[in-house]
Amino acid sequence: MKVLKIDHLGIAVKSITKGKKFWGDVLGLWLEDSEAMAEEKVITTFFPIGESEIELLETTDPDGPIGKYLEKRGEGIHHIALRVENIEEALKELKEKGVRLVDEKPRKGAGGAKIAFLHPKATNGVLVELCER
Ligand code: ZN
Repeated sequence: MKVLKIDHLGIAVKSITKGKKFWGDVLGLWLEDSEAMAEEKVITTFFPIGESEIELLETTDPDGPIGKYLEKRGEGIHHIALRVENIEEALKELKEKGVRLVDEKPRKGAGGAKIAFLHPKATNGVLVELCER
């Protein structure tokens, strides 16, 4: 598998509107349009920074994955996303190497990306997202 770069860092926030005040207004970062991901019960928005991006994740449902995360840990870094050349190949290789996966198959992420999560138990406690764009 080929890991190309850190695609983005995902930050769980209580409110994207409030989150925008720091990342947008204070840092002056340009904000992409927000996108609702119904299946994940989340609204995401991206701030491009050089070769990477900051992703803010706001839950639409307290029982969704981000809702539960906020309840347990509060706001903060939720995941690190690595861009890979071919996500199907990467997942196959990781599975062969015995890496525990959250998603065996890629699913649709924000911005039309293909994404899949690896289990934090396999990655030193960090939720890692693979993404292919
Ligand atoms: Zn992400």
